[in-house]
Amino acid sequence: MFFPKLIRRSEEDYFNIRKKFYANYRDNYPKVKDDCKSRCVYCDITVKEYGGDNMQLDHFRPQEHFEHLETHPHNLYLSCPKCNVLKTSDWPCCKKTNDAPSFVGSIGYLDRFKHNADDYLRVEKDGTITHIAGPTNYMIMKMKLNRPSRTNIRRKRIIESQKTKLLIGINKLTEKLLQDSKSGKISMAQVPDRLENIRLLTTMAQSI
Ligand SMILES: [Zn+2]
Repeated sequence: MFFPKLIRRSEEDYFNIRKKFYANYRDNYPKVKDDCKSRCVYCDITVKEYGGDNMQLDHFRPQEHFEHLETHPHNLYLSCPKCNVLKTSDWPCCKKTNDAPSFVGSIGYLDRFKHNADDYLRVEKDGTITHIAGPTNYMIMKMKLNRPSRTNIRRKRIIESQKTKLLIGINKLTEKLLQDSKSGKISMAQVPDRLENIRLLTTMAQSI
């Protein structure tokens, strides 16, 4: 439900018709969006939850320190505007090579295409992100990942998921009731009352 594993398409898949990278990095938006599963790689809000407006392309290794990576699509990550602004040009790790680790110890950034988020963070029932390992606390502080707008969205996602499970459970209950009435386990006279109870449960679940 949160921070799914991301897989980056090949460099060739980002080529334009002249078999080169786009000169304007923004032209990569649709493919980067797909690779990032339409979610901000930092706070996990989806484009739909963001209201459907376009998000931004973050230069994971900031242009200020990695100018030559400006148009390289593998350096572009989908980010909501707020996370993008908060990250700015911060890069507390090695700035000399393109493939140096994105975090050292507890400082730096998770690279969602290399690191499995579940190994580093957990989303609690109240929607907050908590630290397991690596740079999670650094990111929580730097990017305010537990700002109310984001914890509310994560909590809403949890509630929606529970509601779906509840409605599936009610459907199964209805099927079981109909089977039991057919097989004679319960009398036909009992069915209307039980169906009414199920209908009330359904209405309650749908109003969540
Ligand atoms: Zn974000």
